[in-house]
Amino acid sequence: MTMTPEGTRRDTRAADFVRSGALLTEDEAAVRDSVRAFVDEHVIPGAAENWDRAEFPFDVLPKLGETGVMGGVFSEEYGCAGWNNVAYGLAIAEIARGSGSLATFLHVQSGLAMTAIHELGSEEQKQKWLPAMAKCEKIGCFGLTEPNAGSDPSAMETTARKVEGGYVLDGEKRWIGNASFADVAVIWAKMDDGKVSGFLVEGGTDTDGFEADVLPRKGSQRSAWQTHITMKDCFVSEENRLPKADGLGSTLSILTHSRYGVGWDGFGQAMDCYETALAYTKEREQFGHPLASFQLVQQKLVSMVNDISQMQLLAIHIARLKDAGELDAPLVSMFKMNNVSKARGIAALAREVLGGNGILLDYRVIEHMADIEGVYTYEGTNDVNTLIVGQAITGHRAFAPRPAAT
Ligand SMILES: Cc1cc2nc3c(=O)[nH]c(=O)nc-3n(C[C@H](O)[C@H](O)[C@H](O)COP(=O)(O)OP(=O)(O)OC[C@H]3O[C@@H](n4cnc5c(N)ncnc54)[C@H](O)[C@@H]3O)c2cc1C
Repeated sequence: MTMTPEGTRRDTRAADFVRSGALLTEDEAAVRDSVRAFVDEHVIPGAAENWDRAEFPFDVLPKLGETGVMGGVFSEEYGCAGWNNVAYGLAIAEIARGSGSLATFLHVQSGLAMTAIHELGSEEQKQKWLPAMAKCEKIGCFGLTEPNAGSDPSAMETTARKVEGGYVLDGEKRWIGNASFADVAVIWAKMDDGKVSGFLVEGGTDTDGFEADVLPRKGSQRSAWQTHITMKDCFVSEENRLPKADGLGSTLSILTHSRYGVGWDGFGQAMDCYETALAYTKEREQFGHPLASFQLVQQKLVSMVNDISQMQLLAIHIARLKDAGELDAPLVSMFKMNNVSKARGIAALAREVLGGNGILLDYRVIEHMADIEGVYTYEGTNDVNTLIVGQAITGHRAFAPRPAAT
């Protein structure tokens, strides 16, 4: 890792109280700055309006595809940027700063769908999908959760019946982002022997027997679209099975990759909430003084920036471990749990110090606050990630109640 004088890497944002530039290479800081410029120019201007109207920002996708963030850690061989995990994480945080809903789209496209194809797909599948998905010319989704199988994916009921030349999928999936407009759906299903495998439904909703209805009336993630998928006699050819998907363990390993990105998301959204709160309290006066001069307000601001500093340092450390191949699943769970739950608290404090204006979308804090609720639940709820860490440190698995000792 080549370090240059900190000045070239320094982050000028107020949220970077901890001076993270000292921990970055010049290349990493350059990725952060270029994605930041994209977000300021193309994401933030329309974000609140889109959120209010529950519109997905289709117009942003071509430019988003030029940033390099989609599949950012995969190699140039697959049309991707070949960044390290620090650069990828910094880029995710910037997207999340601009729009939590767009970050959710990113997690599905890059963290889940592209990663499943990259890690579990054949060479032909990778060449076919990854370059186009990196540019957002093709969109993917990832169908794991079902109406009766959320935190416990082993309870999945979707089946893949072997037939001549391929498989027939039957079942339902719930909460699946992007599926109503996806070109390829990664679907998890139980095969005849009960083992879970992954299938690529090419053509998405153009495929016979595959429907995806957008979930209406959401109060969180309003400008990302989640769907309810119904599959009835949906045929998938043999070459569209993910050849390296071998049981539920394969599925969970993809979630671990995506969960890493979600930890950076919490940091990004918290950053925007804090900076909005800081600027607002310096400007707004009550009792003849700026809000920022009151002790109780300062206590809230300090609490926010203190948490953000810890989130940021943890994020960079976790990214370096991932680059070194030393990151395990429980640590990723701790990272997601820590950063998203802290972001949730920061958003609530920021909303509070903005007073009544805190509930107006113009300031964006209420939008982040609502979007974080979705993030708190997906990629393993806060409880599920707590149980994963709990098992790692105690050796006891506490996911299901056990009969009382007699
Ligand atoms: C905005 C959004 C986007 C999503 N996108 C996708 C997607 O693209 N693809 C996809 O496959 N899924 C997606 N999901 C689904 C997501 O992964 C699930 O919502 C999540 O796994 C939780 O499942 P559930 O909602 O069924 O809640 P449940 O599993 O029913 O949990 C309900 C509550 O019970 C708690 N709980 C559950 N089990 C335990 C336990 N053993 N001990 C203690 N507490 C427990 C949970 O923590 C939670 O608080 C998305 C969800 C949301 C909200």
